[in-house]
Amino acid sequence: LPLPTLPYEYAALEPHIDEATMRVHHLSHHQTYTDKLNKALSALRADPEQKHLAKMGIDTLLQHLPEVSDASIRKAVQNAGGGYVNHAFFFASMSPDGGGALEGEGLAAELDKAFGSFTRFKQSFTLASLELFGSGWVWLVYERRSEAPLHITSTPNQDTPAMTPGVVPLLGIDLWEHAYYLKHQSRRKDYVEAFWEVIDWLEVARRFEAA
Ligand code: MN
Repeated sequence: LPLPTLPYEYAALEPHIDEATMRVHHLSHHQTYTDKLNKALSALRADPEQKHLAKMGIDTLLQHLPEVSDASIRKAVQNAGGGYVNHAFFFASMSPDGGGALEGEGLAAELDKAFGSFTRFKQSFTLASLELFGSGWVWLVYERRSEAPLHITSTPNQDTPAMTPGVVPLLGIDLWEHAYYLKHQSRRKDYVEAFWEVIDWLEVARRFEAA
């Protein structure tokens, strides 16, 4: 698998997300997840009894982790495969034309129903992001066949909520220190506030409609 291309220039999210962070995040971190995933997929392909797993596509493979028999390959698929899909998802969640609030029908109305208002959703998502302990992600997900289909959740490391069949991530914030330390050091709150300025709500709403 190739490193997914960034849908905008490295400096496009300035001043909210800085160019230096975007470069190291994409060219180093996302590249490393891609390389390690490719290595794990090669190892699966080399095993006649496991090679069918390498063919199912990384999103599906992440839902079939227990079928990977070798523990170290399984861990590599989980960590690097999760990092691969999460970063492609994360970078595509931001846009130089992003920010603001979601309005109108569809997802905006569902967020109002689930959280009371867009402002309260934003408060809850921000609070969850500030409280997450260790490296991981905070997500807005849509869970099919749930009485409260829209909710906020978190995952450790590079786990994705989509590892659970029926759970569709709509928005996710990378809360690994590499996502913000270069510019904000320990001020995670500044990073979370900057993220709100670049969220591509059209993309998030499109994910909701598809779910
Ligand atoms: Mn990251």
